Amino acid sequence: MDFDVIVLGAGIVGVSSALHLQDRGRRVALVDRRGPGEETSFGNAGLIERSSIVPYGFPRRLGTLLRYARNQSTDLYWDYKAIPSYASWLARFWWHSSPQRLAAAARDMLPLIRQSVTEHDALIARAGLGALVHDGGWIEAFRTQTEFDTEAAAAEVSARENGLRMTPLDSTTLRVREPGIAESFCGALHWQDPKSVATPGELTKGYARLFEAGGGTLFTGDATTVRAEGDAWTVQTTAGRISAKEVVVALGPWSDTVFAPLGYRIPLRAKRGYHMHYQPERQILSVPVVDTEKGYVIAPMQGRLRLTTGVEIAKRGAPPTGIQLERAERFAKPVFGLGARIDPAPWLGMRPCTPDMRPVIGRATRHRGLWFAFGHNHHGLTLGPVTGRLLAEMMTGATPFTDVRPYRPERFE
Ligand SMILES: Cc1cc2nc3c(=O)[nH]c(=O)nc-3n(C[C@H](O)[C@H](O)[C@H](O)COP(=O)(O)OP(=O)(O)OC[C@H]3O[C@@H](n4cnc5c(N)ncnc54)[C@H](O)[C@@H]3O)c2cc1C
Repeated sequence: MDFDVIVLGAGIVGVSSALHLQDRGRRVALVDRRGPGEETSFGNAGLIERSSIVPYGFPRRLGTLLRYARNQSTDLYWDYKAIPSYASWLARFWWHSSPQRLAAAARDMLPLIRQSVTEHDALIARAGLGALVHDGGWIEAFRTQTEFDTEAAAAEVSARENGLRMTPLDSTTLRVREPGIAESFCGALHWQDPKSVATPGELTKGYARLFEAGGGTLFTGDATTVRAEGDAWTVQTTAGRISAKEVVVALGPWSDTVFAPLGYRIPLRAKRGYHMHYQPERQILSVPVVDTEKGYVIAPMQGRLRLTTGVEIAKRGAPPTGIQLERAERFAKPVFGLGARIDPAPWLGMRPCTPDMRPVIGRATRHRGLWFAFGHNHHGLTLGPVTGRLLAEMMTGATPFTDVRPYRPERFE
């Protein structure tokens, strides 16, 4: 019951961190109140998003802002009751989304994004999970010609600068490639370097099995019972009290339930999102497709189609509204041939978000042996394994593969 490190949270970030620490010789305990990969890491769109070079900033175009203000869009929905508690966070998010600051965020994220597929590939091979992963990339589809022309020009530059493979598709080529799509898009961009996961929750579970096979231990327990006792950290689990010299907070959107009582004021907020599975009525997609102007993703997942929505701003415990799912469904049904809903109720998840669009990875400043790994915004599935590697390098005194300063927790102090 005595370990070198306790990792709190068995989402993709916690499991990957536990694995990388174990690979470096640490005896690791992984604690979650549920099974591995059953929360945010379960319900996402399954994209290992190597081509997402620029983070999702606060939109600055007037037309988009007016659309958001009317609260009628598919890509963003506000619960007005949440606005007072989100106001200062949103103001910071807005500030960090100026063109220059967004470019700086993109530069800071690039080393992680660049390494994301490579780090997943290594774990996928070791865990024997190749059958869950498809390497055909994803398609970004556009409904209006002007939007397509603008985005295609920007994408050409980004692809060239970042060494990414991207093929523009006109509407005919798109429909030949994906016969299940009705005539709705005037053009699309096929990004080839990303991968997609058939069942993201199973990927995290597979990585967790690899951790156990390597001698790691999974515990069921409540992370908020973590305490500093002398020079050790303890956590209550269903198997009893466990202790370790070091503890990692990797609780995704719940990380504040541990760091806030310890006195850290990190601005972590949730951007909520939904998913639903549908029977396909036409030939199923070969790769995920993003309906860019409507802000939702349709991903083929084991013979079904998963629709994931854009962002809902609502308080963490507020009941699901499902409004965005209904709006997205109206657009998606005729285009993608969505048949009957499969799940009894929409799945609701929370993207763990920071206003500067960078994750929090590193040593906590005021407690010995306390480490943070959370706040991966829209790309936690993508960035889990690379985060695990970086954190393990920092914790074991190895030279980190990249400059860790952009992710340091104390940047918010
Ligand atoms: C609709 C949607 C679509 C998305 N699509 C993508 C995508 O295509 N690609 C991509 O890269 N990212 C995507 N994301 C983002 C991604 O899913 C998240 O960034 C990522 O899953 C976060 O992982 P995590 O391990 O930090 O958190 P989680 O997976 O939420 O893990 C946190 C864990 O902490 C546990 N926990 C919480 N509180 C306690 C407690 N008190 N005690 C014990 N355990 C506790 C939870 O049970 C959970 O297992 C999407 C997100 C959403 C909502």
